[in-house]
Amino acid sequence: MENPKKLPIWPALVHARCPRCRRGPMFANSIYGFHGQTMLKTCSHCSLTYEIETGYFYVAMLVSYAMNVAEMVTTAVAVSILTGSVNPWFYIVLLLGQSLILSPLNFRYSRVMLLYWLTPGLQYHPELSADHPGEAD
Ligand SMILES: [Zn+2]
Repeated sequence: MENPKKLPIWPALVHARCPRCRRGPMFANSIYGFHGQTMLKTCSHCSLTYEIETGYFYVAMLVSYAMNVAEMVTTAVAVSILTGSVNPWFYIVLLLGQSLILSPLNFRYSRVMLLYWLTPGLQYHPELSADHPGEAD
């Protein structure tokens, strides 16, 4: 068998592809849609079950929380440096608005980051990236 072509991690991560094959989508619809985000149960390419055990994505709430805090601190520090404002209401409205606008992004990428980096034993398998994973060898 020849060496399978490896798919790079960053395009797969940005497009929320399966962490095991980097081919199948993890979500059924777009990030900013009117119908919310629907995560698929299994990968359409390699049949990986995304929710490894019941309630697995509760951990993604912690990842999402960390992302939200990092975004808020970064924005608050940047705006403070750029504007010099000391009005607390300005920061409250700004940071709550930012949190609302970025919540779909945090929802999606907290799950992606959980599966890509924080799940022990779940790794990329280049042989599953082939067009027909069952026929790789
Ligand atoms: Zn897959």
